[in-house]
Amino acid sequence: AQHTRRHHPVQEGEVFNTRYQVLHKLGCGTFATVWLCQDMRKKKQVAVKVLKSREGFAETAQDEVAFLRCVSCMKKKDLAGENIVCLLDDFRMIGENGFHVCLVFEVLGPSIRCLMGNYTAQGLPLPFVKKSLQQVLAGLHFLHKCCRIIHADIKPENILLCGCSKRLQRLLMDTLDCDQGTELRLKAAGGDLGNQLEESDLMSIEVKIADLGSACWTYKPFSKEIQTQPYRALEVLLGLDYGTPADIWSTACLAFEMATGERLFDPQPGKYFSRDDDHVACIIELLGRIPPEIVFSWNKSTKFFSRPGALLRLSRLFPRSLPDILADRHGWTPREAAAFAAFLLPALHYAPERRASAAQSLRHAWIAAP
Ligand code: ATP
Ligand code: MG
Ligand code: MG
Repeated sequence: AQHTRRHHPVQEGEVFNTRYQVLHKLGCGTFATVWLCQDMRKKKQVAVKVLKSREGFAETAQDEVAFLRCVSCMKKKDLAGENIVCLLDDFRMIGENGFHVCLVFEVLGPSIRCLMGNYTAQGLPLPFVKKSLQQVLAGLHFLHKCCRIIHADIKPENILLCGCSKRLQRLLMDTLDCDQGTELRLKAAGGDLGNQLEESDLMSIEVKIADLGSACWTYKPFSKEIQTQPYRALEVLLGLDYGTPADIWSTACLAFEMATGERLFDPQPGKYFSRDDDHVACIIELLGRIPPEIVFSWNKSTKFFSRPGALLRLSRLFPRSLPDILADRHGWTPREAAAFAAFLLPALHYAPERRASAAQSLRHAWIAAP
Protein backbone atom coordinates (compact mmCIF):
# COMPACT_ATOMS: atom_id res chain seq x y z
CA ALA A 1 0.00 0.00 0.00
CA GLN A 2 2.93 2.27 -0.82
CA HIS A 3 0.71 4.77 -2.68
CA THR A 4 -1.38 5.48 0.40
CA ARG A 5 1.61 6.89 2.28
CA ARG A 6 1.83 10.54 1.46
CA HIS A 7 4.15 13.37 2.19
CA HIS A 8 2.63 16.75 2.84
CA PRO A 9 3.65 19.07 -0.01
CA VAL A 10 5.51 21.87 1.72
CA GLN A 11 6.27 25.31 0.28
CA GLU A 12 9.17 27.41 1.49
CA GLY A 13 7.76 30.40 3.32
CA GLU A 14 4.71 28.41 4.44
CA VAL A 15 3.79 28.80 8.11
CA PHE A 16 2.99 25.66 10.13
CA ASN A 17 0.56 25.95 13.02
CA THR A 18 0.66 29.80 12.79
CA ARG A 19 4.13 29.67 14.30
CA TYR A 20 6.84 27.87 12.31
CA GLN A 21 7.88 29.46 9.02
CA VAL A 22 9.57 27.07 6.60
CA LEU A 23 13.07 28.07 5.49
CA HIS A 24 14.31 24.94 3.71
CA LYS A 25 14.47 21.15 3.81
CA LEU A 26 16.94 19.53 6.21
CA GLY A 27 16.43 15.93 5.27
CA CYS A 28 14.02 13.14 4.66
CA GLY A 29 13.54 9.53 5.58
CA THR A 30 11.09 6.74 4.94
CA PHE A 31 8.40 8.22 7.13
CA ALA A 32 8.89 11.94 7.12
CA THR A 33 10.45 15.09 5.74
CA VAL A 34 12.29 17.46 8.05
CA TRP A 35 12.28 21.25 7.58
CA LEU A 36 14.35 24.06 8.99
CA CYS A 37 11.83 26.60 10.30
CA GLN A 38 11.86 29.94 12.05
CA ASP A 39 9.90 29.75 15.29
CA MET A 40 8.21 33.15 15.05
CA ARG A 41 7.16 33.11 18.69
CA LYS A 42 10.51 32.22 20.26
CA LYS A 43 12.53 33.89 17.45
CA LYS A 44 14.85 30.95 16.91
CA GLN A 45 15.32 28.18 14.39
CA VAL A 46 13.83 24.73 14.87
CA ALA A 47 13.59 21.49 12.88
CA VAL A 48 10.03 20.36 12.10
CA LYS A 49 9.51 16.69 11.20
CA VAL A 50 6.33 16.30 9.14
CA LEU A 51 5.20 12.69 9.16
CA LYS A 52 3.52 11.09 6.19
CA SER A 53 -0.22 10.81 6.39
CA ARG A 54 -1.89 7.39 6.59
CA GLU A 55 -3.63 5.80 9.49
CA GLY A 56 -0.85 3.40 10.33
CA PHE A 57 1.68 6.16 10.14
CA ALA A 58 -0.34 8.46 12.34
CA GLU A 59 -0.34 5.73 14.97
CA THR A 60 3.40 5.27 14.74
CA ALA A 61 3.73 9.03 15.02
CA GLN A 62 1.68 9.08 18.18
CA ASP A 63 4.10 6.54 19.55
CA GLU A 64 7.02 8.68 18.49
CA VAL A 65 5.54 11.57 20.47
CA ALA A 66 5.02 9.30 23.48
CA PHE A 67 8.62 8.05 23.37
CA LEU A 68 10.00 11.56 23.02
CA ARG A 69 7.86 12.84 25.89
CA CYS A 70 9.06 9.97 28.05
CA VAL A 71 12.64 10.90 27.16
CA SER A 72 12.05 14.58 28.09
CA CYS A 73 10.47 13.57 31.37
CA MET A 74 13.27 11.18 32.32
CA LYS A 75 15.88 13.74 31.26
CA LYS A 76 14.60 16.14 33.89
CA LYS A 77 14.50 13.44 36.52
CA ASP A 78 17.83 11.76 35.85
CA LEU A 79 19.76 14.73 34.52
CA ALA A 80 21.00 12.46 31.76
CA GLY A 81 20.00 11.72 28.22
CA GLU A 82 21.63 14.74 26.64
CA ASN A 83 22.60 12.48 23.75
CA ILE A 84 18.99 12.03 22.66
CA VAL A 85 17.33 14.60 20.42
CA CYS A 86 15.06 17.00 22.30
CA LEU A 87 11.34 17.40 21.46
CA LEU A 88 10.22 21.03 21.82
CA ASP A 89 6.62 20.86 20.63
CA ASP A 90 4.22 18.79 18.53
CA PHE A 91 1.09 19.56 16.56
CA ARG A 92 -1.19 18.15 13.89
CA MET A 93 -1.71 19.58 10.47
CA ILE A 94 -4.41 18.88 7.90
CA GLY A 95 -3.16 18.91 4.34
CA GLU A 96 -4.47 17.76 0.99
CA ASN A 97 -3.29 14.24 1.82
CA GLY A 98 -4.89 14.05 5.24
CA PHE A 99 -3.61 14.35 8.78
CA HIS A 100 0.08 14.84 9.47
CA VAL A 101 1.66 14.62 12.86
CA CYS A 102 4.44 17.19 13.20
CA LEU A 103 7.29 17.09 15.70
CA VAL A 104 9.39 20.13 16.57
CA PHE A 105 13.04 19.57 17.50
CA GLU A 106 16.14 21.56 18.24
CA VAL A 107 18.13 22.01 15.02
CA LEU A 108 20.99 19.55 14.73
CA GLY A 109 23.70 19.20 12.12
CA PRO A 110 24.11 16.64 9.36
CA SER A 111 24.07 12.93 10.09
CA ILE A 112 27.07 10.64 10.50
CA ARG A 113 26.06 9.16 7.12
CA CYS A 114 26.42 12.58 5.57
CA LEU A 115 29.82 13.09 7.14
CA MET A 116 31.01 9.60 6.18
CA GLY A 117 29.63 9.75 2.67
CA ASN A 118 31.84 12.72 2.16
CA TYR A 119 34.87 11.57 4.03
CA THR A 120 37.56 9.19 2.83
CA ALA A 121 36.90 5.54 2.13
CA GLN A 122 39.12 4.75 5.13
CA GLY A 123 36.50 5.77 7.61
CA LEU A 124 36.56 8.54 10.18
CA PRO A 125 39.47 9.30 12.52
CA LEU A 126 39.47 6.76 15.36
CA PRO A 127 39.45 9.27 18.23
CA PHE A 128 36.28 10.78 16.73
CA VAL A 129 34.74 7.33 16.22
CA LYS A 130 35.40 6.45 19.86
CA LYS A 131 34.10 9.75 21.16
CA SER A 132 30.88 9.59 19.19
CA LEU A 133 30.34 5.93 20.06
CA GLN A 134 30.72 6.81 23.74
CA GLN A 135 27.91 9.31 23.27
CA VAL A 136 25.72 6.89 21.32
CA LEU A 137 26.23 4.22 23.99
CA ALA A 138 25.54 6.70 26.80
CA GLY A 139 22.34 7.69 24.97
CA LEU A 140 21.36 4.04 24.58
CA HIS A 141 22.12 3.28 28.21
CA PHE A 142 19.74 6.10 29.15
CA LEU A 143 17.05 4.92 26.71
CA HIS A 144 17.34 1.29 27.83
CA LYS A 145 17.65 1.72 31.59
CA CYS A 146 15.88 4.98 32.42
CA CYS A 147 13.21 5.11 29.72
CA ARG A 148 12.84 1.39 28.98
CA ILE A 149 12.84 2.16 25.28
CA ILE A 150 14.42 0.15 22.46
CA HIS A 151 15.46 2.61 19.73
CA ALA A 152 15.25 -0.09 17.04
CA ASP A 153 16.79 1.96 14.23
CA ILE A 154 20.39 2.78 15.11
CA LYS A 155 22.25 3.59 11.88
CA PRO A 156 24.48 6.41 10.57
CA GLU A 157 21.47 8.34 9.17
CA ASN A 158 19.93 8.59 12.62
CA ILE A 159 22.98 9.83 14.50
CA LEU A 160 23.17 13.60 14.06
CA LEU A 161 26.05 15.96 14.70
CA CYS A 162 25.73 18.96 16.93
CA GLY A 163 28.15 21.54 18.20
CA CYS A 164 29.97 21.82 14.86
CA SER A 165 32.65 24.53 14.95
CA LYS A 166 32.06 27.63 12.80
CA ARG A 167 34.86 26.41 10.57
CA LEU A 168 33.28 22.99 10.07
CA GLN A 169 29.84 24.51 9.49
CA ARG A 170 31.33 26.67 6.75
CA LEU A 171 33.16 23.68 5.32
CA LEU A 172 29.98 21.62 5.30
CA MET A 173 28.03 24.48 3.74
CA ASP A 174 30.66 24.82 1.02
CA THR A 175 30.89 21.13 0.25
CA LEU A 176 27.36 19.97 0.85
CA ASP A 177 24.29 20.86 -1.05
CA CYS A 178 20.61 20.60 -0.33
CA ASP A 179 20.32 18.62 -3.53
CA GLN A 180 16.84 19.24 -4.94
CA GLY A 181 15.73 19.66 -1.40
CA THR A 182 16.20 15.99 -0.61
CA GLU A 183 19.23 15.09 1.46
CA LEU A 184 22.41 16.94 2.10
CA ARG A 185 24.75 15.73 -0.57
CA LEU A 186 28.15 16.51 -1.91
CA LYS A 187 28.01 19.18 -4.60
CA ALA A 188 30.44 17.22 -6.74
CA ALA A 189 30.92 13.48 -6.48
CA GLY A 190 34.11 12.60 -4.63
CA GLY A 191 34.39 16.11 -3.24
CA ASP A 192 37.31 16.88 -1.03
CA LEU A 193 35.69 17.54 2.32
CA GLY A 194 37.76 14.66 3.65
CA ASN A 195 41.02 16.36 2.77
CA GLN A 196 39.95 19.64 4.29
CA LEU A 197 38.72 18.16 7.54
CA GLU A 198 41.12 18.45 10.41
CA GLU A 199 40.93 16.15 13.38
CA SER A 200 40.19 19.16 15.56
CA ASP A 201 37.02 19.83 13.50
CA LEU A 202 35.69 16.46 14.52
CA MET A 203 36.93 16.47 18.08
CA SER A 204 34.71 19.35 19.11
CA ILE A 205 31.59 17.63 17.77
CA GLU A 206 28.93 16.01 19.87
CA VAL A 207 26.44 13.54 18.48
CA LYS A 208 22.81 12.88 19.33
CA ILE A 209 20.56 9.94 18.66
CA ALA A 210 17.57 11.02 16.55
CA ASP A 211 14.50 9.33 15.05
CA LEU A 212 12.50 7.49 17.67
CA GLY A 213 10.01 6.64 14.93
CA SER A 214 10.73 2.89 15.12
CA ALA A 215 11.17 2.67 18.88
CA CYS A 216 9.24 0.35 21.20
CA TRP A 217 8.84 -0.17 24.93
CA THR A 218 10.95 -2.95 26.41
CA TYR A 219 8.03 -4.29 28.44
CA LYS A 220 5.32 -4.38 25.76
CA PRO A 221 4.82 -7.27 23.38
CA PHE A 222 5.47 -6.19 19.83
CA SER A 223 5.60 -8.03 16.57
CA LYS A 224 6.59 -5.50 13.97
CA GLU A 225 9.74 -5.90 11.98
CA ILE A 226 12.30 -3.47 13.30
CA GLN A 227 15.63 -1.98 12.23
CA THR A 228 17.10 -1.17 8.82
CA GLN A 229 18.39 -4.30 7.11
CA PRO A 230 22.20 -4.03 7.31
CA TYR A 231 21.95 -3.08 11.00
CA ARG A 232 19.33 -5.71 11.87
CA ALA A 233 20.23 -8.01 14.76
CA LEU A 234 20.30 -11.77 14.21
CA GLU A 235 17.31 -12.39 16.49
CA VAL A 236 15.23 -9.83 14.58
CA LEU A 237 16.29 -11.32 11.26
CA LEU A 238 15.17 -14.76 12.45
CA GLY A 239 11.85 -13.40 13.70
CA LEU A 240 12.51 -14.11 17.37
CA ASP A 241 11.97 -12.17 20.56
CA TYR A 242 14.15 -9.12 20.80
CA GLY A 243 14.95 -6.48 23.36
CA THR A 244 17.50 -3.78 24.07
CA PRO A 245 20.42 -6.01 22.89
CA ALA A 246 19.15 -5.49 19.32
CA ASP A 247 20.33 -1.85 19.58
CA ILE A 248 23.78 -3.01 20.66
CA TRP A 249 24.11 -5.21 17.57
CA SER A 250 23.25 -2.20 15.38
CA THR A 251 25.76 -0.08 17.30
CA ALA A 252 28.50 -2.62 16.55
CA CYS A 253 27.59 -2.37 12.84
CA LEU A 254 27.69 1.42 13.14
CA ALA A 255 31.07 1.32 14.89
CA PHE A 256 32.62 -0.85 12.18
CA GLU A 257 31.23 1.36 9.42
CA MET A 258 32.46 4.58 11.04
CA ALA A 259 35.90 3.12 11.61
CA THR A 260 36.37 1.54 8.17
CA GLY A 261 34.02 3.36 5.80
CA GLU A 262 32.46 0.01 4.87
CA ARG A 263 29.35 -1.77 6.06
CA LEU A 264 29.92 -4.68 8.40
CA PHE A 265 27.13 -6.60 6.66
CA ASP A 266 25.93 -5.62 3.23
CA PRO A 267 23.48 -8.37 2.27
CA GLN A 268 22.25 -8.61 -1.31
CA PRO A 269 19.61 -10.91 -2.80
CA GLY A 270 20.66 -13.46 -5.44
CA LYS A 271 18.84 -15.50 -8.03
CA TYR A 272 18.10 -18.37 -5.66
CA PHE A 273 18.24 -16.67 -2.28
CA SER A 274 16.73 -13.66 -0.57
CA ARG A 275 18.46 -10.69 1.04
CA ASP A 276 17.65 -12.25 4.43
CA ASP A 277 19.31 -15.53 3.38
CA ASP A 278 22.41 -13.63 2.34
CA HIS A 279 22.35 -11.64 5.57
CA VAL A 280 22.32 -14.80 7.73
CA ALA A 281 25.12 -16.22 5.56
CA CYS A 282 27.23 -13.04 5.94
CA ILE A 283 26.76 -13.22 9.70
CA ILE A 284 27.86 -16.87 9.84
CA GLU A 285 30.88 -16.15 7.63
CA LEU A 286 32.05 -13.47 10.03
CA LEU A 287 30.98 -14.76 13.42
CA GLY A 288 30.89 -18.51 12.94
CA ARG A 289 28.32 -21.24 13.14
CA ILE A 290 25.14 -20.47 15.02
CA PRO A 291 24.87 -23.16 17.73
CA PRO A 292 22.01 -25.58 17.03
CA GLU A 293 20.51 -25.03 20.45
CA ILE A 294 20.05 -21.40 19.48
CA VAL A 295 18.93 -22.02 15.91
CA PHE A 296 16.40 -24.66 16.83
CA SER A 297 15.06 -23.01 19.91
CA TRP A 298 13.70 -20.45 17.52
CA ASN A 299 10.55 -21.06 15.56
CA LYS A 300 11.25 -19.25 12.31
CA SER A 301 14.69 -20.79 11.92
CA THR A 302 13.36 -23.41 9.52
CA LYS A 303 13.00 -20.57 7.05
CA PHE A 304 16.80 -20.41 6.89
CA PHE A 305 18.18 -23.72 8.09
CA SER A 306 17.72 -27.26 6.77
CA ARG A 307 19.49 -28.98 9.65
CA PRO A 308 21.66 -27.73 12.51
CA GLY A 309 24.14 -25.26 11.09
CA ALA A 310 23.27 -25.78 7.43
CA LEU A 311 21.65 -22.99 5.49
CA LEU A 312 18.74 -23.92 3.29
CA ARG A 313 19.67 -21.98 0.16
CA LEU A 314 23.34 -21.08 0.54
CA SER A 315 25.83 -23.91 0.81
CA ARG A 316 29.17 -22.29 0.02
CA LEU A 317 30.27 -19.90 2.73
CA PHE A 318 33.54 -18.01 2.89
CA PRO A 319 34.50 -17.66 6.54
CA ARG A 320 36.63 -14.65 7.39
CA SER A 321 37.55 -13.27 10.78
CA LEU A 322 37.01 -9.72 11.92
CA PRO A 323 40.72 -9.03 12.67
CA ASP A 324 41.64 -10.42 9.22
CA ILE A 325 39.17 -8.12 7.47
CA LEU A 326 40.47 -5.13 9.40
CA ALA A 327 44.07 -6.01 8.58
CA ASP A 328 43.67 -7.19 4.96
CA ARG A 329 41.00 -4.89 3.63
CA HIS A 330 41.56 -1.83 5.76
CA GLY A 331 45.27 -1.98 6.52
CA TRP A 332 44.98 -2.02 10.31
CA THR A 333 47.94 -3.32 12.29
CA PRO A 334 47.29 -6.72 13.94
CA ARG A 335 47.35 -4.99 17.31
CA GLU A 336 44.77 -2.32 16.37
CA ALA A 337 42.63 -4.93 14.64
CA ALA A 338 42.65 -7.25 17.66
CA ALA A 339 41.72 -4.41 20.02
CA PHE A 340 38.80 -3.25 17.88
CA ALA A 341 37.58 -6.83 17.32
CA ALA A 342 37.69 -7.37 21.09
CA PHE A 343 35.30 -4.44 21.44
CA LEU A 344 32.96 -5.50 18.62
CA LEU A 345 32.61 -9.23 19.23
CA PRO A 346 30.85 -9.07 22.64
CA ALA A 347 28.40 -6.60 21.07
CA LEU A 348 27.66 -9.15 18.33
CA HIS A 349 27.07 -12.14 20.58
CA TYR A 350 24.43 -14.40 19.03
CA ALA A 351 22.51 -14.92 22.26
CA PRO A 352 20.94 -11.52 23.07
CA GLU A 353 21.08 -12.20 26.81
CA ARG A 354 24.83 -12.72 26.62
CA ARG A 355 25.51 -9.71 24.40
CA ALA A 356 27.34 -6.77 26.01
CA SER A 357 25.02 -4.07 27.36
CA ALA A 358 25.49 -0.37 26.60
CA ALA A 359 27.09 0.12 30.03
CA GLN A 360 29.46 -2.83 29.51
CA SER A 361 30.44 -1.61 26.05
CA LEU A 362 31.16 1.83 27.52
CA ARG A 363 33.57 0.31 30.01
CA HIS A 364 35.49 -1.60 27.34
CA ALA A 365 39.20 -0.78 27.13
CA TRP A 366 39.07 -0.01 23.38
CA ILE A 367 36.50 2.75 23.70
CA ALA A 368 37.85 4.14 26.95
CA ALA A 369 41.38 4.49 25.52
CA PRO A 370 41.89 7.77 23.66
P1 ATP B 1 13.93 6.76 8.73
O1 ATP B 1 13.85 6.48 7.27
O2 ATP B 1 15.33 6.57 9.25
O3 ATP B 1 12.92 6.10 9.58
P2 ATP B 1 12.46 9.18 9.29
O4 ATP B 1 11.56 9.32 8.12
O5 ATP B 1 11.89 8.61 10.53
O6 ATP B 1 13.74 8.39 8.87
P3 ATP B 1 14.20 11.14 10.60
O7 ATP B 1 15.31 10.15 10.64
O8 ATP B 1 13.67 11.55 11.91
O9 ATP B 1 13.02 10.65 9.62
O10 ATP B 1 14.70 12.44 9.82
C1 ATP B 1 15.15 12.32 8.46
C2 ATP B 1 16.42 13.11 8.27
O11 ATP B 1 16.16 14.51 8.56
C3 ATP B 1 17.56 12.74 9.21
O12 ATP B 1 18.32 11.66 8.71
C4 ATP B 1 18.36 14.03 9.26
O13 ATP B 1 19.19 14.14 8.12
C5 ATP B 1 17.28 15.11 9.18
N1 ATP B 1 16.91 15.56 10.53
C6 ATP B 1 16.07 14.95 11.39
N2 ATP B 1 15.96 15.61 12.56
C7 ATP B 1 16.76 16.69 12.45
C8 ATP B 1 17.11 17.78 13.34
N3 ATP B 1 16.60 17.87 14.57
N4 ATP B 1 17.98 18.70 12.89
C9 ATP B 1 18.53 18.60 11.65
N5 ATP B 1 18.24 17.61 10.77
C10 ATP B 1 17.38 16.66 11.15
MG1 MG C 1 15.72 8.33 10.18
MG1 MG D 1 12.41 6.73 11.44
